[in-house]
Amino acid sequence: MRKHHGQEVKIGNGGKRRQTNRVNVERYKLCPNCGNFYSAMEDVDYCGVCGEKLIDHCPRCHEPILYPTAKFCPLCGERYGKDDS
Ligand SMILES: [Zn+2]
Ligand SMILES: [Zn+2]
Repeated sequence: MRKHHGQEVKIGNGGKRRQTNRVNVERYKLCPNCGNFYSAMEDVDYCGVCGEKLIDHCPRCHEPILYPTAKFCPLCGERYGKDDS
């Protein structure tokens, strides 16, 4: 029976520090109706769940949407979705 030691575990290779100079902020498109969201990189304009037009920025301050699960704009407090009252 042959045993191959294919597993190599490298531990403690210090000095290698990953630099993240690039500002890589993910943006999203949100459905204001049902809360569905897509990456802003995706070529979609409408919600695949309910057919509502997606928004990719705050309707009030026009900041891009960085938190897809947010219901309100963290910068100005504007509600992304429709008022469900
Ligand atoms: Zn929707
Ligand atoms: Zn805003």
